[in-house]
Amino acid sequence: MRPATPVRCYLHAAMPESAITSLRAMPLGVAALLLLVQNLVVFAAALGFGAIVVRYFGRRRIAAHPGPVTKTEIAAAVSAVILNTVVTYVGFLAWRAGVVRFRSDVGVWAIADVVVLVLAMDLAMYVLHRLAHHPWFFTLLHRLHHRFDKPRPLTLFVLNPAEALSFGGLWLVVIAIYSASWLGMSLYLTLNVAFGVLGHVGVEPFPRAWVSWPALRHIGTSSFHAQHHAEPTHNFGFYTLLWDRLFGTLHPEYEARFKSS
Ligand SMILES: [Zn+2]
Ligand SMILES: [Zn+2]
Repeated sequence: MRPATPVRCYLHAAMPESAITSLRAMPLGVAALLLLVQNLVVFAAALGFGAIVVRYFGRRRIAAHPGPVTKTEIAAAVSAVILNTVVTYVGFLAWRAGVVRFRSDVGVWAIADVVVLVLAMDLAMYVLHRLAHHPWFFTLLHRLHHRFDKPRPLTLFVLNPAEALSFGGLWLVVIAIYSASWLGMSLYLTLNVAFGVLGHVGVEPFPRAWVSWPALRHIGTSSFHAQHHAEPTHNFGFYTLLWDRLFGTLHPEYEARFKSS
């Protein structure tokens, strides 16, 4: 006999009803503080994850060692965490106003959300990234990030304020259009930080056979984004190589260099 677990409880496992209710009723100041703490935790987790990867894969370095952290990097990273909090807060207000809606299911459709969000954001960020490299926008949006051609995990947060707000705004537009599940969105955001960190570790944790496997070879590696920092006319994608392959911007020696690194 099957256990009599109420379906409703199962469906709301990703974000319990009580948590949703308290978020809806929370004073705005408290919510802002909570979102700042959440962004600080993400920032610390990203740097911690990056430090572990650098430590364990240090023998396979793909970019020169970046040297001591500069005051510019620290100031830019602090600003990025604050601006990420602003974006999260705007998203929170949009959710309370009903502009952004989330589903509570945790089944196969929640996993499908991850695929949809990864592909949609990958394409949207590819387009925005290529625009950011246009001479009209480069100084305003993207020059600061590219001052650091020897990336480290912190480089993920070294962004022009306008760049941080543009990518955050893009995310808010996507979730306003597409009602994802809490679970799918949380998994996507976790992957987003993981890929962001892996792109800036300066070492290669992915196995050499990665680029020979039929499906996996289309997924971004650390070398993929490190190569963009070294040669900014190639490799504009974030999670996948699909759009770079489609639009002819993948570095012609990407796979050969990956195998020999
Ligand atoms: Zn980068
Ligand atoms: Zn770039």
